[in-house]
Amino acid sequence: MNLEEIYQKLDQDQRISKAEAFFLYQKADWLTLAQKAQARRAQRLGANWASYTLFRVINYTNICNIDCSFCSFKRHEGEQGAYVMSQEEVLAKVKSTLELGVGQIFLQGGVHPDLPFSYYTELLRAIKATYPVHIRGFSPVEIQYMAQLEGRPSLGIIQELKAAGLDSVPGAGAEILVERVRQILSPQKCTVEEWGQILKECHSLGLRGSANLVFGSVETKEEIFEHLDFIRRLQEDTGGFDSFIPWTFQPQTKAFEVQKVPPQEYLKILALCRLFLDNIENIEVSVMVLGKEIGELALGMGANDISSPVIEEKVLRSYGTKSENEAQLLIEDAGYQARYRDFNYQS
Ligand code: SF4
Repeated sequence: MNLEEIYQKLDQDQRISKAEAFFLYQKADWLTLAQKAQARRAQRLGANWASYTLFRVINYTNICNIDCSFCSFKRHEGEQGAYVMSQEEVLAKVKSTLELGVGQIFLQGGVHPDLPFSYYTELLRAIKATYPVHIRGFSPVEIQYMAQLEGRPSLGIIQELKAAGLDSVPGAGAEILVERVRQILSPQKCTVEEWGQILKECHSLGLRGSANLVFGSVETKEEIFEHLDFIRRLQEDTGGFDSFIPWTFQPQTKAFEVQKVPPQEYLKILALCRLFLDNIENIEVSVMVLGKEIGELALGMGANDISSPVIEEKVLRSYGTKSENEAQLLIEDAGYQARYRDFNYQS
């Protein structure tokens, strides 16, 4: 294996293998990776624009029995600060979101141990009956638990969520899709295979969405590429991922040690996501997690979307843009035309 051969493959828009991507990670210089990633972005999407979107996160409950080691958001039932939103509370949040001119919401909870399935379907129906919003919601982890609690196959559960009004799904709860890592970070979460199976089912029913990578914990560098390979193979099967978002762990709790990922390391991984994930069109930088400075640089390393601003997010601390105007300015400062896009990546 040598660098020149891999560069040639990239220049000819050929697929590179997991081993070749890892070789690039180890041997390629930063500037060449940036140039190759930008060339790929320009070739696929054009080079002169970048996009953002607007949505509200509604964390309908923080009660969760999964106990991920990195999470400071979850509470157990009965613990101080534990809550489940009523339908009225959620509807009031949707109403105020629309009043801000934003028509997209993202329902995300903890994995509640005993909320009946009707809570979710009635909530979706009530929102759709009252407000014209796109509803993205429920990670594979939440869906798998709903199926387990109902004692039914997940496909039927997803069909019912869709019929009740669910429009798209996040690829949340992935972190690093390698069993060794999951056993350390969150042994009670669904397995890698279950995560993939639920997203396959969602995509087969037309519920598209995103996938992500969260690194900077106990993973090895090779495991980052295992994760990317799993996502690329899943995308070959379904084509249901509109975008991919790499970000790093935030220090949330003392129980969990976060590696300090330097900006250049994050940007290198981001460029490799653009180059390796040749079947996912949009690569997002999470400005909300990584901040505006890295956001601007990432648009020169293969990313074409900054996602933010996000209204109200309780699981992660936000370092991102606070308004549509700020998002547009960030993109323009980086040298691109700013484009609004919706959850379906329509401008
Ligand atoms: S990350 Fe999600 S699944 Fe894990 S403990 Fe927190 S709320 Fe629960």
